[in-house]
Amino acid sequence: MTEAAGQSQAFQADVARLLHLMVHSIYSDRDIFLRELLSNAADACEKLRYEALANAEFAAAPFKIVIALDKEAGVLSVEDNGVGMTREELADSLGTIARSGTRAFLDRLGARPEATEGGDDAETAEAEAGAEKNPHVDLIGQFGIGFYSAFMVADRVDVYSRRAGSNEAFVWSSDGKGAFTIAPLALDQAPEHGTRVALHINESSKEYLDPYKIEQIVREHSSALAAPIDLVESPG
Ligand code: ADP
Ligand code: MG
Repeated sequence: MTEAAGQSQAFQADVARLLHLMVHSIYSDRDIFLRELLSNAADACEKLRYEALANAEFAAAPFKIVIALDKEAGVLSVEDNGVGMTREELADSLGTIARSGTRAFLDRLGARPEATEGGDDAETAEAEAGAEKNPHVDLIGQFGIGFYSAFMVADRVDVYSRRAGSNEAFVWSSDGKGAFTIAPLALDQAPEHGTRVALHINESSKEYLDPYKIEQIVREHSSALAAPIDLVESPG
């Protein structure tokens, strides 16, 4: 969208490797991407709820999460009115791996952090083969791989975000192939505060544009979140 205006930044080596595995892990349960995005949205609401205890300025609208389906555009988005992210938070949270779970996941696959230094592809191929040998072990589901799981079902992800209390908004964008961009975003295109994650659903994942499929996944994986979830379909 606005990525042309953004500065391109390479993903941390571990992230690039994780994304590669993610896209090629044909045996994993792709449905879990939604659970991960919804849990991030609910976490963001919780963070703002907590900040509002100390800052009356933030105590306002009831928290909610909206899943929007635009079949024509091929976009599924998850929007929350939680805490949002600054430019720095977008780059740090969605460009590096800070989570211990993700590290454990990479280790389990044999894609050890030290191995990324040399950057040879043999390691990656080996790790993939390892994953494919154990089709019954849903490693991604087991470790809860988080935001990056969106790239199992999307060939581009745009994250529109405005940090609560900030007068700036930004859009993070990536095709999951090694780099991301962050560009300034007009405030009228951003949530008032919070984050909208827009997934451009890939050719083999069109079922995720079907409201019945989405309802079923939400029932199955995300029925007990701290914020209510709405499902809307874009007209047209
Ligand atoms: P985890 O949720 O376990 O930290 P994720 O990969 O799911 O790992 O998310 C990484 C980080 O990105 C989160 O910790 C959070 O800081 C940030 N993040 C992701 N989604 C959102 C969101 N909707 N609102 C605010 N921050 C988010
Ligand atoms: Mg998460």
